[in-house]
Amino acid sequence: MSLFVEVALPVPMRQAFSYRVKEADLDKAQVGVRVRVPFGRQQLIGLVTGLSQSCDLAPNQIKSVITFLDHEGVLPPSLYKLTQWAARYYFCSLGQMLSQALPVALRKGAEVEAQQLQVWRVTAAGQEADIDLLKRAPAQRKLLLALLETELSQDELNALEQSKTALKALVERGWIECIERRIESNLSWRDGLELDETPHQLNPEQAIAVAMLNQQQGYHCTLLEGITGSGKTEVYLALLETVLKQGKQALILVPEIGLTPQTISRFKRRFKVQVAVIHSGLTDNQRLSAWRLARSGEAAIIIGTRSALFTPMRYPGIIILDEEHDASFKQQEGIGYHARDLAVMRGHLESIPVLLGSATPSLETLQNALSGRYQHLSLGSRAGAAEKVRQGIIDIRNQPLKNGLSHGLLNEMRIHLDAGNQVLLFLNRRGFAPALLCHECGHLHECDRCDAFFTVHQSLGEIRCHHCGNQYAIPRQCHQCGSTMLMGQGVGTEQLADALAKEFPNYPVVRIDRDTTSRKGALETHLNAIHKGEYKILVGTQMLAKGHHFPDVTLVGLLDVDGALFSADFRAPERFGQLYTQVSGRAGRARKPGTVLLQTHQCDNPILRELMHKGYGEFARGQLEERKQALLPPAWHMLLLRAEAHKAEDADAFLAQVAQLLPQDEQCEIIGPMPAPMDRKAGKFRRQLMFQTKTRGLLQQAFEQALPQIEALPLAKRCRWSLDRDPQDLL
Ligand code: ADP
Ligand code: ZN
Ligand code: ZN
Repeated sequence: MSLFVEVALPVPMRQAFSYRVKEADLDKAQVGVRVRVPFGRQQLIGLVTGLSQSCDLAPNQIKSVITFLDHEGVLPPSLYKLTQWAARYYFCSLGQMLSQALPVALRKGAEVEAQQLQVWRVTAAGQEADIDLLKRAPAQRKLLLALLETELSQDELNALEQSKTALKALVERGWIECIERRIESNLSWRDGLELDETPHQLNPEQAIAVAMLNQQQGYHCTLLEGITGSGKTEVYLALLETVLKQGKQALILVPEIGLTPQTISRFKRRFKVQVAVIHSGLTDNQRLSAWRLARSGEAAIIIGTRSALFTPMRYPGIIILDEEHDASFKQQEGIGYHARDLAVMRGHLESIPVLLGSATPSLETLQNALSGRYQHLSLGSRAGAAEKVRQGIIDIRNQPLKNGLSHGLLNEMRIHLDAGNQVLLFLNRRGFAPALLCHECGHLHECDRCDAFFTVHQSLGEIRCHHCGNQYAIPRQCHQCGSTMLMGQGVGTEQLADALAKEFPNYPVVRIDRDTTSRKGALETHLNAIHKGEYKILVGTQMLAKGHHFPDVTLVGLLDVDGALFSADFRAPERFGQLYTQVSGRAGRARKPGTVLLQTHQCDNPILRELMHKGYGEFARGQLEERKQALLPPAWHMLLLRAEAHKAEDADAFLAQVAQLLPQDEQCEIIGPMPAPMDRKAGKFRRQLMFQTKTRGLLQQAFEQALPQIEALPLAKRCRWSLDRDPQDLL
């Protein structure tokens, strides 16, 4: 009898590949195990997705599996199903989706279960040794003292950042040694949960939320809408207590920027259980160890960023997403999966509750909560005793600006700085395309065919509507007042920080953005310095908006608000509302009252007014209504096709042919091809096409049908093209 396996490989081809199973391996073949197989000239590791007794390929074409790597499926069935579902939903190959789901070390062939652990301990000689001999070698002394207290695994040792030379020196003295130890899973936390810290007495709103959530059995999705500082984390902790007491594990997902040591320690402090932390800064081996602890059930709490969503749990209990609106839950490069949407699907598949928490929920989640698909709980008052923030608008129409700063803002800054406080300035250029704005009268140039604003494409010398594709040459004069002071570009963080250093030579300036924090640990260092008061003026992007607590910041200024409000991106107002609300939460968090000032050419703008006077909740509900009118997500569903090529015509022609392959009627709309808001990048022309449908199912069906034909287009090879389902930004 011959046996064949279908294997999903980490390649873009949306198909499974067949391999023969050797005689000796017949009993090892099963769905879900990893195999090493020949692929072209290389060897790849893939996952078995099916078995069959026959194969369509000619006998001389079929190759054999080199080795089977596992005795049982790597992923639990629920996660295997989740990746299958996700591959279909995001129109990628199962192999590509599995690559997202599995830690790198496993993709390279590491063992799923650790049999042995390397442990460092003190030898008998070391126990007897005279520590005073190490007076001149403080690093060795510190390490020896640490090991005298307890044995440490290699990972734990790395985490302590002990010097390698000291380790070697102690080994040479014969005082410490590394041994291999068999690992037995320690599941004692399931026998009886102990608390390390007494919880706060919950306030009535928190208590109601916890009681409602504790009633739930099986799958349920809930939105916990609570203003900044209203005690959402305290609610998570109370829920965890219930879940852990039942011997079940909890998965907590937080935004990239939110996973600070403070967040982790808050969870570690409450419960005497092991917490596995998973984020992009781990080495492959550290990541694998954390994954193993979750899979074996040893780690009761798993806390991590986006990709931690795929961590298996032996005793699944609950999934919590904090700051669910955060854009970092959507992967931007490669496969654009959204961890929030997959978390909800995972909850279904594992029959466990999913809790989404935010002060500024995304419109997607809000819609589900308002329609009753999700349970909706809210926390309305601040748990602590912080005062309400004073808000103000500075009208900068026709005002002289110094590097983007108005007199009004500069004066207010001086007052706060001279009083010994810190000032925070936000510049949010990232992710927003420039609109065409008149500096004299504030007029924004709007498309004459629809409701959207024009985006300036300096390099093309044109303005374009990204809603309908309408385009003109960049006008010389304002359509409303005739002024020639038209603005299409703002200042950058670097330029602003330099200007501030000159303006306020006595007050040190720190800049926080992607560039200044790319080095590992740089953000932490900057934040610590800010806390110590070493900096007085903080300039930054949205990185500064989240979760951080700056007690001495009393003034927050937002520049370039117009860019955010009138971007080509339909999500821009929503993002701005979230940013504004989160930023306002940074001012006056402690005893000092806070002020938030906005600079704008649009002081009568209804979006701004609504946001400032009614708050995010009502603002967001209004936005949701507008999206419905405009047939935009979350009311409708969107797939964005991006293509880039050295010749603009290639990208345009390719997308035009794609458009021909897709249906267009009352329920399916096609917009484009047109230049992306950022129309050129690295010498390539970037074009895009939007496919929008009334229902999710329609999008799935129509695109699945067209995809093989799209892939077969000859032009598909002349462009680099990609798909983005439920795109978060259109750039
Ligand atoms: P959020 O997650 O909504 O921003 P937190 O849970 O971090 O809010 O709570 C904000 C602050 O209020 C924290 O310092 C927390 O310890 C405190 N806090 C939360 N709930 C209570 C409570 N019921 N009683 C007293 N203090 C509380
Ligand atoms: Zn004007
Ligand atoms: Zn238009």
